[in-house]
Amino acid sequence: SDVGSQKERVVTEEEWLQKWEMGDIGFHKEQGHPLLQKYLDVLLNGRSGLRIFFPLCGKAVEMKWLADMGHSVVGVEVSEQAVKDFFSEHSLPYCEEPVPEISGAKMFQSTSGNISLYCCSIYDLSSSIVGKFDGVWDRGALVAVNPCDRQSYASLMINLVEKSSSYLLVTVSYDPNKHKGPPFYVPESEIKSLFG
Ligand code: SAH
Repeated sequence: SDVGSQKERVVTEEEWLQKWEMGDIGFHKEQGHPLLQKYLDVLLNGRSGLRIFFPLCGKAVEMKWLADMGHSVVGVEVSEQAVKDFFSEHSLPYCEEPVPEISGAKMFQSTSGNISLYCCSIYDLSSSIVGKFDGVWDRGALVAVNPCDRQSYASLMINLVEKSSSYLLVTVSYDPNKHKGPPFYVPESEIKSLFG
């Protein structure tokens, strides 16, 4: 479980934008994630009308699922193309507005008001801007964060959730010497030390 070869790797925002531009988005799954279906009860825990956060959301179709179930979905994504593709691929009308607290950021919101996607870096968010969440779907997020940023990412996520929240985290297990990532290999022990 030596992750030495990945520790120094940095993927810039520019590179992510480029992936979206080139259509190099093998991480996007049209069918939605089977593990969200499997663990939906753990996320919801019998509650309705939750605020659910999608960090590094891309155009994840699970945002539509949860919104259709009556929850309020908030996502953050650096690629404006991803955000616009999400709304257009689901034929959802939306409006966009600046985010006064974050220079250059925009918020895209479905006209029905139940899906709000912030187009900016996740590191620009705070609970004073987006509030706190009852649930988190973290797939392709912690594992996409640069290894050097994991600690700030985890601290931010801990800050963005209510005490009673549920956090579903999907990671991948493989030999980190054979693939440079992302997705990065995040050992179980590190997840424990990041999130306690
Ligand atoms: N969670 C999504 C996308 C995973 S890929 C899914 O399951 O399909 C990771 C995404 O994070 C990419 O779309 C990339 O553009 C975005 N991203 C990378 N760094 C980011 C950052 N600092 N803030 C917000 N989004 C970021």
